[in-house]
Parts: sequence; structure tokens; C-alpha cells
Amino acid sequence: KLQLKIVPHCKIGHPISRFEECEEVMGQSYQWPPDITESQLETLTLLATTYALSHGLVYLPVAEVQPSAPTSTIHAPLSLFPSPIPRKQFEKAKNLQSLYNVLYSRVATDIDFLDRVMGEEQGVGQVDEFTGSLWKQWKRLRDREAGIVQPLQLGLFRSDYMLHAPEGADSAILKQVEFNTISSSFGTLSQQCAQMHKYLFSSTKYFGCSPHLTHDNLPQNTTTAGLAKGLAAAHTAYGVSTARILFVVQPNERNVFDQRFLEYELLESHSIHVIRQTFDELAASAQVDPQTHVLKIKLNTSVLSDLSSVEISTVYFRAGYTPNDYTSPSHYDTRGLLESSLAIQCPSIPLQLAGGKKVQEELTKPGVLERFLFGDKYAKTFTPEDLVNIRSTWMEMWSLDSGGDDGVVKARTHAANLVLKPQREGGGNNVYKEAIPPFLDTLPEKERTAWIAMRLITTPKGLGNYLVRAGGGTNGAVKANVISELGLFGWALFGGKDGAVQEKEAGWLVRTKGEDSNEGGVAAGFSVLDSIVLV
Ligand code: ADP
Ligand code: MG
Ligand code: MG
Repeated sequence: KLQLKIVPHCKIGHPISRFEECEEVMGQSYQWPPDITESQLETLTLLATTYALSHGLVYLPVAEVQPSAPTSTIHAPLSLFPSPIPRKQFEKAKNLQSLYNVLYSRVATDIDFLDRVMGEEQGVGQVDEFTGSLWKQWKRLRDREAGIVQPLQLGLFRSDYMLHAPEGADSAILKQVEFNTISSSFGTLSQQCAQMHKYLFSSTKYFGCSPHLTHDNLPQNTTTAGLAKGLAAAHTAYGVSTARILFVVQPNERNVFDQRFLEYELLESHSIHVIRQTFDELAASAQVDPQTHVLKIKLNTSVLSDLSSVEISTVYFRAGYTPNDYTSPSHYDTRGLLESSLAIQCPSIPLQLAGGKKVQEELTKPGVLERFLFGDKYAKTFTPEDLVNIRSTWMEMWSLDSGGDDGVVKARTHAANLVLKPQREGGGNNVYKEAIPPFLDTLPEKERTAWIAMRLITTPKGLGNYLVRAGGGTNGAVKANVISELGLFGWALFGGKDGAVQEKEAGWLVRTKGEDSNEGGVAAGFSVLDSIVLV
């Protein structure tokens, strides 16, 4: 049955009994958010924001240049209620994660495939300078005498989904928005947010406003431990316990706490030290020994007086996913320098390329997924049922350069139900619906290769939530009709000669945005952090 057919919101302030009335009248349906009074809303807002500030569910405040030693934070944008996700769909997404972990590790190690789809001679790299620049660094290293000296690669992934409930369907099913292979963020803050909703439940029982809000319906989220285990697995595989993990970060990053929680977890649970550097800093501090290929970073000795340089086991990129991060051409050389070393890259350049939207589209072509799941060169890890399950999460996609003008003609015809995506990450790059035809009018023919068309997911209507943002001019919670996006984290360590893939699912994230917003990034300011109530 369609669990997510929701009645229009009852106004704030109606007594709780109104919920039962809605429930009874609508049979299977229910409303979200449940009814609460103004004073209950005020209480929840106070408890939520105070919990967030106390538990590091925070950002650095907006500033042109972040201070070298920050003194204040603001709470991350958040929802007061967890958002409903059907239990079966949540279980499915969790189970799919291991399949996706292995699938993308196979994509990242298929050099011919990546050259063809993303390369500078045949693929996206021909027309997209960013993709081309990354691919060229990779190709240069493959072609040098030493080749790629570190076969192992680490991915910290996030597979993003939305519920798809087209008109007439009797159930909502998860459809994949995209698969992220670089800088997948909000893992640790998402754990804090789930804890915050659990706390609201334990402390207030949400005033008994909904029978769905029970202890058992709020799933545990252990992203911090899960993601740190992935990084620790790479560190262990590198095999030098005194080495450190390098976090490559953006200057003036506001989402530092999401990263710091991983750093603290690595130190506390795995005794692994982390250092953080920007591309600019690395240009001066990174050195790769020409004989051993060991990556060393010179440290600011005033911070760590006993060490002048440290060996790096693993390079974890929280920067480098957008061309804006490469403010000088030399930053691509710095990326190449890191990639040339023995340190395990998270992600390697090929794994970053594997996360391209064009790859996502290519996988939907007939026979491509079959080849990655059942190809002779792979160990038998997949079943025919896995194939059906993976494919069931895909929307229709095609490339704008497919079939001469066909791809573009089809995009014009179906514009109202489409999104066009370039090879970019981080939100704010897509073209939606009525903006598509004028965009196609101006898109040079050769640039079509860089774009894919994707059918829009039809999200369930009528869901709402209370959204709370700090410093946005509004005071307190704002009630809005919303759309939620579920992300499943996972990691994979792979690339060794034996073809083994060590991998795990690693928790989840819910981002919720106002219904009218096409885009969904929290960092880009479109969404709030949320969590799950299973229904
Ligand atoms: P990015 O890598 O920039 O995050 P996404 O593919 O995730 O790119 O697109 C950004 C946002 O656009 C998503 O978070 C989602 O809100 C929206 N979006 C993307 N694809 C679809 C789709 N097929 N249907 C509905 N919304 C989509
Ligand atoms: Mg992305
Ligand atoms: Mg996204």
C-alpha cells in the first residue's frame, strides 16, 4: 500500500486529537509533520538547537575568510521531525550498498571503460576541461616508467536516493539520484542529527503527536565509526603504523566539524593521526621520494615540534571535486603528485571519474551492468537478483550526444519531466524542466558529450516538516512542504592483484528541502539535515 499518501497539513496549533481524526478519515494515510501546538513547537525548537550546539551538529559561521582559530559556531540547518521512509525501502537501500560498493570498485579498475567514457581522447574529457585535466594526470602516471605504484584505492561512497511515487503507483520505491565517489559529506553530522531526533523523542516523546514516533522506528546511525573504519582499513593495508592520514581540505571550509569527527574517531578508536592541508599548502609541503615513492608532508614545526615531516598512508579528499578547488593549474599537478605516490588515494583519480554522471548513465545502457556484474574476469559475487535490484533503482537516462540529434530532440520533448546534468559535484549545476529548451538552444553541439538527461523522480506529495536554520533572518522553525533525499554511505578498499574488495555499508544521511527547490545540497544552502522515522 502507498504508505506515503499524505493528507494536507492541519494547521499548527490544532489539538493532538486532530491527528487521529486525519488518520481515521484517510485510512492508510497520515499527515507529516504531526500536529503540535505553538508552545510544543517552541519547546522542540529550543531542545533541538541546544542539542545541536552542544553536540557539534554545527558549522562555522559565514565569513569571507575563516579565522585560523575559530571561536564560534552556528547549528547546522536541521528539521525538527525525522522524515518518514518505508521500512522496506530503507532495508533495500542498506542491502544494495554492498552491491554498489563492489560495482563501483569494478568501474574504477576498468581502465578501457573509463578512457572511453571519461577520457580526453574519446570521452567527456574532450569537452569538459575539468574532467580532461584529471584524466590527463592519471594517464601521465600510467604512461611513466614506474606506472601507478599503489594499486590499492579507497572509496568512501554515498549512494543518494529519493522516493519515487508516480501517479497511479500503489507504492513508493527508491530511485537513485546519483552515486558519489569523492568528498561524500555529512556522514558524521547526520549521525548527530539522528541522535538529536532520538533525544527529542526520549525527552518529550514528541508530545505523543504521532504513533509512528516510537523508539523502534528511529534507526541507529553509526556513520562516524563506519567511515573511520574504511579509512583505517586503508591505513592498515598501507602497513606503516606511524604514518598519518592526510585530509585534503578547502580553504575557508565551513563544514569542518563533519570532517573533524572523523579525525577524532581515527585517533580515539584506531590511534591514527590526521593532518589537514589545502592544495595551496600541499604545493609547498608535499614530497614524493623518487626511489621509494613514499609521500611525505613537511609540517609546520611550531605545531608539532618533534616532527619535521610525516609519512602519509592515505589521502582523503574533502576538496578537489570541483574545478573551483583548482584555483591554479599547478593544483592539478599537486593532485598528480599525490596520486604518483605510494599513499592510498580516497578517491584515486579513476575512482573520482567513476563517480561521473556520464558513468551513471553509461551503466544503464544494455549489457553494461551485466558486464560489470558477471564478466569473466571477476569473482562471482553477484546473482541475477542483484542485477534486478540494482537496476530497479535507476531512472531513465541518456546522453545528449546519443544518436546524432536524437538525444537533444528527446530532451526537448520530455523537458517537463527531466533534469540535465553536467560532470560536476556539490550541487547547483543542473538544469531543470522549463529551463531545458532555452539551455539547449545555446549549448554548443560538441559540449553535448558532457551532459546527460535524467527523468525526474516523482517524489511523494504532501509531506512537510519544520525546518530550522541559524542566521537566516528567520527566527525559529519554518513549516514547509518538503522532499527528502536518503543517502547510504559505504566504503570499499580494492585494486590489489587478487581482485579482492573489502567493503562495508556505513550508515546514512537524510537531507530535506523545501518542495519548490530543484536542488538539494545542504552545503549549498538548499537543504536541512534530517533523519528517518520508519513507517
Ligand atoms: P550533485 O552531484 O551536484 O549533488 P545531483 O545529481 O545529486 O548532483 O543533483 C543535485 C540535486 O538535484 C539532488 O540532490 C536532487 O535534489 C536533484 N535531482 C537530481 N536528479 C534528480 C532527479 N532525477 N529527480 C529529481 N530530482 C533530482
Ligand atoms: Mg554528487
Ligand atoms: Mg547530489
